[in-house]
Amino acid sequence: RTGTRVERLPLSRFTTLGVGGEAEVWFVESPEGLAEAMERPYRVLGGGSNLVVSDAGVPERVIRLSGPLAERDLTPDPALSTPECVVTGWVGGGVPLPGLVRQLQKLGLSGLEGTVGIPAQVGGAVWMNAGTRYGEMFDGLHTVEIVTPEGTRQVTPDELPWGYRQSGIPRNHVVTRVRLSLTVSTPGAVLARMDLADQARKGQPKMKTPGCAFKNPGGVSAGKLIDDAGLKGTRVGGALIAPEHANFIVNLGGATAADVHALLDIIRARVGVPLELEYELWP
Ligand code: FAD
Repeated sequence: RTGTRVERLPLSRFTTLGVGGEAEVWFVESPEGLAEAMERPYRVLGGGSNLVVSDAGVPERVIRLSGPLAERDLTPDPALSTPECVVTGWVGGGVPLPGLVRQLQKLGLSGLEGTVGIPAQVGGAVWMNAGTRYGEMFDGLHTVEIVTPEGTRQVTPDELPWGYRQSGIPRNHVVTRVRLSLTVSTPGAVLARMDLADQARKGQPKMKTPGCAFKNPGGVSAGKLIDDAGLKGTRVGGALIAPEHANFIVNLGGATAADVHALLDIIRARVGVPLELEYELWP
């Protein structure tokens, strides 16, 4: 009835690190399906690009937006769009961000190109206002739809206390879909800005990873601190501190969450200053 499919699956399939034990995954396609999934304790999974999931998995239901909640309608809304600015139809929270950014570039629509290279889903990227120094998710949002067990609301960005890498949307409030507000530009101009943001990623490893491990403490580069501690190339099991960039832990194949945690402990013990984790740990 609701279109929901429920399967027990290893979460390693859904994380960019390729690590994580089993959980009950709810592939939710409709508001009714989402309401049903939220009747018991749950977690929301996006692109799995900021997660280290334990080898034992998680006991909660894991909600994954699918079907219509992972589709996009980029048709300009005639009532809200102008020759300079396009307000799109709805873009599902389950839409992969990289494909969306490429599509907007081809359409010559500017606003999200600074997020190029972030392997998130739209909902996850909005939830933490993912971005780079070239731009962030909140640069291109018109409306955000948020669903909780209490109901659904649609808000504009100025109704949210968003800031640097945060939307102000509480945990487990689900970003189901958004409408984008974009500036009319040209494919060439948008591509040029994407290239800038891409260039900044040149030194990052290409292997399976959940992105940067630690936040930069007080403006100092966490990668440099880890490198200065002589830890580049340190390996535990299948996990390695990337030789290209010390703030990235990569999966050489067969890494476990325990391997990654062991490396994080080594880094914390050897770097002289307290480091705050960038990843989210499940559970
Ligand atoms: P997940 O990792 O699946 O989940 C992260 C959090 O978001 C969880 O709390 C989850 O519950 C919540 N969430 C997911 N979907 C939803 C939803 N629909 N509604 C509500 N909450 C949701 N980040 C940057 O900001 N800038 C970068 O330049 C950057 N570069 C990266 C490069 C690489 C190679 C990798 C692997 C990661 C990088 N990241 C970067 C980190 C990551 O991509 C971001 O944190 C991103 O926002 C995570 O989105 P996700 O959809 O993958 O969420």
